[in-house]
Amino acid sequence: MPTHYDADLRLFINGSWRIGEDRHPAGVINPATGETIAELPLATAADLDEALASADKGFQTWRAMDVEARGAILRKAATLLRDRTEAIATLLTLEQGKPLAEARGEVSSSATLFDYCAEEAKRAYGRVLIRPTGQRSIVIKQPVGPVASFTPWNFPVYLMAKKLASALAAGCSVIAKPPEETPGCTSALMQCLIDAGVPANVIQLVFGVPDMVSRHLIGSRIIRKISFTGSVPVGKHLMKLAADGAKRVTMELGGHAPVLIFDDCDLEKTLDMVVPQKFRNAGQVCVSPTRFYVQQNIYDAFVKGFAARTTNVTTGSGLDAETKMGPLANARRPAAIGALVDDARAKGARVLAGGNRGDHGYFFQPTVLADVPQEADIMSNEPFGPVAVCRPFESFDEAIEQANRLPYGLAAFAFTENGRRANLLGDAIESGMVGINTFAISTPDSPFGGVKESGFGSEGGPEGMESYFVTKAIHQA
Ligand code: NAD
Repeated sequence: MPTHYDADLRLFINGSWRIGEDRHPAGVINPATGETIAELPLATAADLDEALASADKGFQTWRAMDVEARGAILRKAATLLRDRTEAIATLLTLEQGKPLAEARGEVSSSATLFDYCAEEAKRAYGRVLIRPTGQRSIVIKQPVGPVASFTPWNFPVYLMAKKLASALAAGCSVIAKPPEETPGCTSALMQCLIDAGVPANVIQLVFGVPDMVSRHLIGSRIIRKISFTGSVPVGKHLMKLAADGAKRVTMELGGHAPVLIFDDCDLEKTLDMVVPQKFRNAGQVCVSPTRFYVQQNIYDAFVKGFAARTTNVTTGSGLDAETKMGPLANARRPAAIGALVDDARAKGARVLAGGNRGDHGYFFQPTVLADVPQEADIMSNEPFGPVAVCRPFESFDEAIEQANRLPYGLAAFAFTENGRRANLLGDAIESGMVGINTFAISTPDSPFGGVKESGFGSEGGPEGMESYFVTKAIHQA
């Protein structure tokens, strides 16, 4: 298994890899140590113009290709991803910090997205309308055009794969701007697509200063759709830029997932599921379970069990086999999470586990806060880190009210053995995804996206593919 950083960081534009030359460099940091491990060339305006012109040409080539042929290339890319899992997962862990087992899982889940989309694109059926004899009216679907996709650092391979798989399967060309924190693993994904036979011009890979790149690409008439995963403020900013060109958007933004724990759940089993999920990827997951509302009569047992299991979560380098939780992904995160924990503590929350930064790298201890007052910032601002906040509730209605109290609605979870209650919960919770007695809410065949300020549109499933098509009605008398 490779254990060192082995990536040649470049841009992929107009069918060729571009090295540093006179481009401004940015450091790539291993978050477990805080050390700079590589330098990344950042795209210039001229690079972006070349990528745009190339994507424009690539769209014409790719849309004309038979859907079976496109699907065969995407399936080959899936196979290459699986073959290269160890190398890609190692880059992912070194750049982002997550334990190697999670990184391997991310690569293999990414492969399933290409397989799924290769099949699903064949089912982009249109309609034939009923008309008098001799006349025809048909509705067809066509790829929307060149897409600009912006992906974040928490699941850099999976989220880039999610956008690329559906856009490419639908026949769109793509300019991908992955996060600058994790360029090696995302370049390795791009290399799988190139090696699988995606024609030159169809895919471009650019890194850069995010605001400069997004303004440049979204401002171009060539780009017809923007897909972004990241924070709510940046999503709103990009939607405004897209509005100037009346461009389509898919926005997968933040959440603040509530978890409703009812007193009829299997408490030990629930805790055994909840704790690893809370600290998966150090809590840097848009659907991470965060606000735990626990029915009053099991509240004390729940927080005690949560804290005991949390103290057993081993932290360390993601390359160490015993590590269950790695560092946070970048230098901004420990400070942001520390401020939220300090504010909650000052307002009366009890710290039952963790609560502090690590002494090197970008670590933050797995943390459980109990009796967190409603006015604590962390009850309204997503921690996006390894912190669970707990509060008791009395009634079903109170639990739903608490779950729905924020302007976000990405994912919500509930644990109950009562089937009728589960149905009512599913209907009443305001979120794009609801997991009842499960955290498995992200699969290739199901839509993934938020309501309220958590976003716009879905990724995954036929719904995700649909967002890369425009419809056209053709009437013939
Ligand atoms: P941020 O708001 O600075 O950036 C969020 C993401 O957007 C990053 O990947 C960043 O590279 C990108 N970005 C920033 N400005 C951009 C611009 N002008 N154009 C295009 N892309 C731009 O926040 P951060 O410190 O990187 O992350 C912290 C917050 O981001 C978290 O609190 C969380 O809410 C959110 N986040 C959400 C997801 C998700 O999966 N929905 C993923 C990562 C981060």
